[in-house]
Order: sequence, then structure tokens, then C-alpha cells
Amino acid sequence: MYAAEFDYYKAGSVAEALQLLGAHEGAKLIAGGHSLIPLLKLRLARPPALIDIGGIAELKGIKVENGTIHIGALATHGEIAGSSEIENACGMLAEAAGGIGDTQVRNWGTIGGNVVHADPASDWGTVLTAMNASFNIEGSGGLLRSGSRTVSAGDFFEGVYTTAVGEGEILTGIEMPVLGPNQHAEYAKMAHPATGFAVVGAAVVVTVADGRCTAASVVVGGMVTSPLRARSVESALIGQELNLETIAAASENIAQDVGDNAIGDFFASAEYRTVIAGVEVKHALNHSMGLAHH
Ligand SMILES: Cc1cc2nc3c(=O)[nH]c(=O)nc-3n(C[C@H](O)[C@H](O)[C@H](O)COP(=O)(O)OP(=O)(O)OC[C@H]3O[C@@H](n4cnc5c(N)ncnc54)[C@H](O)[C@@H]3O)c2cc1C
Repeated sequence: MYAAEFDYYKAGSVAEALQLLGAHEGAKLIAGGHSLIPLLKLRLARPPALIDIGGIAELKGIKVENGTIHIGALATHGEIAGSSEIENACGMLAEAAGGIGDTQVRNWGTIGGNVVHADPASDWGTVLTAMNASFNIEGSGGLLRSGSRTVSAGDFFEGVYTTAVGEGEILTGIEMPVLGPNQHAEYAKMAHPATGFAVVGAAVVVTVADGRCTAASVVVGGMVTSPLRARSVESALIGQELNLETIAAASENIAQDVGDNAIGDFFASAEYRTVIAGVEVKHALNHSMGLAHH
């Protein structure tokens, strides 16, 4: 099917994109188009206008500076996967990016479009929540939403296809701290064989001091409507020496964290997803500690 008719505008700057958004009610931004174009063609979205932000220089680029990783909203998955700066700052980000879709998806799809689309099966939501990333949002003003604001990952993902980015706003970039010398991070997923999307994904960031885990951030994706922090797994890890036994025991707690809320669909039942979540959390933790191969 062809998309319904729409007007097309190409914005040269964030200010111009905001002005165009304000001037065209119901308009949608387009970045890589890899999520939006399928929706247009299925006529699940019928915006009267598309505002192409793909050429805006200020939304591009990747920088690691003063202990902070800055990723522009237009950075493609391929650019992140191939960035040596990202690899050195947090290898999990490069690895997750390299596992998205296929070469074409990685060359066109952007991290900004991915997180704003907020598909529960996306990889970035899980990984960025585990990293406790911050999301920079720019708006043109108004009573409720004015100017720039920063939202933490925990507040950014609000549900299926829903985020804190409101009408008339643009996500400009994402920031997070570089991994510390005693921190270990890893992402593992059961990938859908056709698309690479996460049927279940697990991202972990653990801090180890004097041989024991002092902090843990464990997040699963594809399980419920948005990335889920696995608090029971985290508490079971803290204070432990991280070895095959303690990791296996802690990973079993995932069922408690997911409860009765797991998504069941055509690809995998809720029960199956919950079992696989435990496997992927264990896999990511073992790998982060050098106890298993990918
Ligand atoms: C075959 C295939 C396989 C895929 N496999 C995977 C996978 O394995 N893992 C995975 O995570 N994803 C996967 N994806 C999704 C892919 O990562 C998309 O690139 C991503 O979801 C959307 O990014 P985009 O730049 O194409 O966004 P677009 O399609 O251009 O936009 C998506 C949405 O975000 C909005 N938007 C875009 N940029 C901004 C911005 N800066 N500020 C505010 N709103 C914005 C748009 O208005 C739109 O609503 C796959 C997609 C395809 C087609």
C-alpha cells in the first residue's frame, strides 16, 4: 500500500524544525524512516506533513568528553557500532548497535528515532535504561513544555510507542557516564530471526569492588510495555561475589520482577518470555564477568 498524501518539509536546524512543527498541526518528524515509513505505508499513521530532520548537523555526532558519552539523536546504529570512542567508553553500546537489524537498518536507523518510536522489542531502550542515560529534549515553548529539558531513562519510556517527548518537541541527544574501571556492562538478546528485534533482551551494568558486587543495574526489554528494571535480581547480586552460582541464583528472581505482566504474542508466549528473560540476564551477567562467551 502507498502512504496517504502528506506535505514534505526539510528542516535545516532544530529551530526551523520546531517552527515547522508548531506551524503544522499533527506533523511528524522523520529521521531514518525505518519505523515511520512502514507505519505510513500501512496507513497506521497519516500525518498531514513530514518534517525531515535527517540533514540537521547539530543533531549528528558522537563525542566522549570529561567522562560523559554524548550521542546525537541522528547518530545511526552503524556509526555507534563503528565508533572506537564508544567502544572504549562502553563496549556494550557498540555491541548492541552492531546487533540491530541488518546493514541497511543500521545505516539508516537512528538512535533518536529508535527511542522515540519506543517499540518494546527495541534494543536501545533496554541498554540505555541500564546505563541510566539522560535524554535531552528541545521544545519551542508553551505553558506546559518550555525550552530544553532533560529526562532520565526511567521517566523517558512511558509505554508502548509512548515516551516523554511531547507534541512539538524534538529529542536532540542522549548522554550517559563513561563506564568506570570497576564497572562491567553487557547486553544479551534472543533476537527475532527475521528482523533482529529483541524477543527478549537483557542489559546489565555491575560495579565490583574488593571482589564483591556493590551496585547493579539489570534491565529486561521485550517483556512488558517498556524497559523493566529487575530490582529483585539487582538486590540478590549486591554484596555477592559474582560467580556462576550466585549469578544463576540471582537471575531466577526475574520471574518476581516480571510478575504476571509479560507480553505474550505471535512470537513468544508470556511464560516462554519469562523463562528466556532469566536465561538472557544470566548470560549477560556471566559474560560481563568473563565467565561465558557470547
Ligand atoms: C527490518 C528492520 C529490522 C529492525 N531491527 C531492529 C533491531 O534489531 N533492534 C532495534 O532496536 N530496532 C530495529 N529496527 C528499528 C530501527 O532501529 C529503526 O531505525 C528505529 O526504530 C527508528 O529509527 P529511525 O531513525 O528510522 O526513525 P523514524 O522511522 O524516522 O522515526 C521513528 C519515530 O520517531 C520520531 N522521531 C525520529 N527522530 C526524532 C527526534 N530526534 N525527536 C523526536 N522524534 C523523533 C518520528 O517522528 C517517528 O515517530 C528494525 C527496523 C527494521 C525496518
